[in-house]
Amino acid sequence: MKKRLVVQGRLSDAQLATLNDLFDVSVLPKTTALNDPDNHALLAEAHGIIGSGLAITPQLLDATPNLEVVATISVGYDNLPVEELTKRGIMLCNTPDVLTETTADTGFTLIMATARRVVELAEWVKAGKWQASIGPALFGSDVHGKTLGMIGFGRIGQAVARRGALGFGMQVRYSNASPKPALEQELGAVRCELDELLATSDFVCVTVPLTADTERLIGAQQFALMQPSAIFINIARGKVVDESALINALENGVIQAAGLDVFEQEPLPAASPLLNMPNVVALPHIGSATHETRDAMAQRAVDNVRLALQGEKPISLVNEEVNQ
Ligand code: NAP
Repeated sequence: MKKRLVVQGRLSDAQLATLNDLFDVSVLPKTTALNDPDNHALLAEAHGIIGSGLAITPQLLDATPNLEVVATISVGYDNLPVEELTKRGIMLCNTPDVLTETTADTGFTLIMATARRVVELAEWVKAGKWQASIGPALFGSDVHGKTLGMIGFGRIGQAVARRGALGFGMQVRYSNASPKPALEQELGAVRCELDELLATSDFVCVTVPLTADTERLIGAQQFALMQPSAIFINIARGKVVDESALINALENGVIQAAGLDVFEQEPLPAASPLLNMPNVVALPHIGSATHETRDAMAQRAVDNVRLALQGEKPISLVNEEVNQ
């Protein structure tokens, strides 16, 4: 008998066909809550779940006694109960690497857009306000040659830094759990304490995962250390930052601008003061959102789930201890 797989995420027809050949596949719409009573019978028999934004809780796991693998179509897994999955011997797979360059592109887009005031000025032109050549009030800041401070220096952090150092002649500083001597060699990057990085960087870019240690890592105290001309970029997770402290810092000129792909609450509520600030570029969590990359992420998740349910080691296994 084929193993049973629940899909709740965007897969191509070809990816679904691959899974259908191997498994008994049920596709749930994104709008359906996984724990909806209508899904109980399905989950009770499921061996695998694949998708994005999966609402998996310990209570839901109580109802999935046969579950062997959860494959999230994302690199971040802060929304998933890793310990609980591990305790129950359920593999958790994610999709690192295939989204690194695209997410770094998003980070650099935000660096450029905030420094050169691209969104604000493009809206100004569209509003018919360009009637004479512009003056200093609308000038931006240089990016090339400036200091780029990376908070988190993993795959995505390094890819952003590479763009800055090699493309824009930026000096790279980083604060990270472990040192990265190869990158120090390659990019001339300098590791420093977080406080020093905040005080000395023109651009501060956050790429740490959201964990108990990094939640609200950046708050009022940290913004106070930054230069008034500094630009803050977050492409990691909204909850790494105390968003009300960020709003205060922007409103009071503690920092110059912010480029944000992620927020404490997503979608960003219409009442958020961030939406009314010309010095904020806010994106709808598009870090990896290109056709090519989302397809590659889905393919990685398909490969992970296929290998796991066939008794082989998945390509990207988060909780390695389950497979030992
Ligand atoms: P990664 O390769 O695991 O890099 C994370 C880095 O953060 C690692 O270098 C790690 O240090 C460091 N780190 C972890 N905890 C830390 C702490 N408490 N203090 C200092 N450094 C710490 O992950 P990645 O692939 O670059 O992805 C990073 C995050 O980006 C993901 O977790 C996800 O939340 C976010 N993301 C967002 C989007 C988006 O759409 N905006 C897209 C993709 C990813 P070590 O090297 O010492 O382990």
